[in-house]
Amino acid sequence: MRVGVLGGGQLGRMLALAGYPLGLSFRFLDPSPEACAGQVGELCVGDFADPEALSRFAQGLDLVTYEFENVPVEAALSLAERLPVLPPPKALEGAQDRLREKAFMASLGVLTPPFHPVDGEEDLAEGLKKVGLPALLKTRRGGYDGKGQALVRTEEEAQGALRALGGRGLILEGLVPFDREVSLLAVRGRNGEMAFYPLVENRHHGGILRLSLAPAPHLTEALQKKAEAYAREALLALDYVGVLALELFQVGEELLFNEMAPRVHNSGHWTLEGAETSQFENHLRALLGLPLGSTAPRGYSAMANLIGHRPDFGEVLRLPSAHLHWYGKAVRPGRKVGHITLRRDTWEELQSELPRLLTLAGSPSIIGGEGGQAWTAPGA
Ligand code: AMP
Repeated sequence: MRVGVLGGGQLGRMLALAGYPLGLSFRFLDPSPEACAGQVGELCVGDFADPEALSRFAQGLDLVTYEFENVPVEAALSLAERLPVLPPPKALEGAQDRLREKAFMASLGVLTPPFHPVDGEEDLAEGLKKVGLPALLKTRRGGYDGKGQALVRTEEEAQGALRALGGRGLILEGLVPFDREVSLLAVRGRNGEMAFYPLVENRHHGGILRLSLAPAPHLTEALQKKAEAYAREALLALDYVGVLALELFQVGEELLFNEMAPRVHNSGHWTLEGAETSQFENHLRALLGLPLGSTAPRGYSAMANLIGHRPDFGEVLRLPSAHLHWYGKAVRPGRKVGHITLRRDTWEELQSELPRLLTLAGSPSIIGGEGGQAWTAPGA
């Protein structure tokens, strides 16, 4: 079976590495000849919007998936006329637009932060009445890793942000005083079978994910069930096949939906060593109509991203149970170039090694420092 992947970044690369034991081969479509998935599979260089590039890419493939959600929906739809494209392009379309995805999840009865579409000054005034201050003004499309959004604390700031963000195509959201950010990785097979990984706690800095802890400390069954119920609704409504990631805010015992990604997700990288079956393998199993693998965690895992930073590999690998993933990308500030996962049998062991992990990853301030809090044992 030959799998085509729209996008050739590290998610595609890890999909291929997980797919080789299953006898699959991979072709990636990416506008950059440097795309790092090209180091482990066939790379087709071309623009997603170029019909000739799409035809070249599609030749001889059995199915198509994506590792990047800002692929033009038209590209996915045009490929879907020739081949199975999974997850379904309508999920891609929804996830590209912060307003649509929030409205969609709210229509399923899922809690979200208060939000209002903004296409000009009148909408902004109405939105501020509905949502209140402080709030976040975000672009509906195209933003990622905290880009394309502004925190607004006053009406004047909101007007300034409206101009700075282009005046239209925006969404105003209430700023949620969350206790923490968590994410759920869900997967649905072609026959409707579903599986869910345990909720993960995510720590960001500068809008970029730095650290994931899995399972999330203090995770209760009630919280897990709530997140799974949200995901189940979305998977069914979209007739979804593959891995779906939901990013959520935890406020007390409530979960508010922030955004979704119709693909494997950075907060699921820990599953490579920390779960019975990785998110990458389960995504492929789902696409191929194979039985899904167990999502049970193996002990406790911490995944730290390497952001514009190349650690000393020897020092990383000297840590017991450290797993280094280097994506083969040029190091540039703010760029995700790899990750390290630490897996331990007990939370206490893992917790005692977190400071070392984060120092090696170049993110020591994520714990204890700014916005930090000490972690205690799950369930303590
Ligand atoms: P986004 O790109 O929309 O996921 O936003 C990036 C980050 O900004 C999130 O991971 C949160 O840390 C923060 N954020 C986004 N929306 C909200 C919100 N409504 N309330 C509080 N924080 C938010």
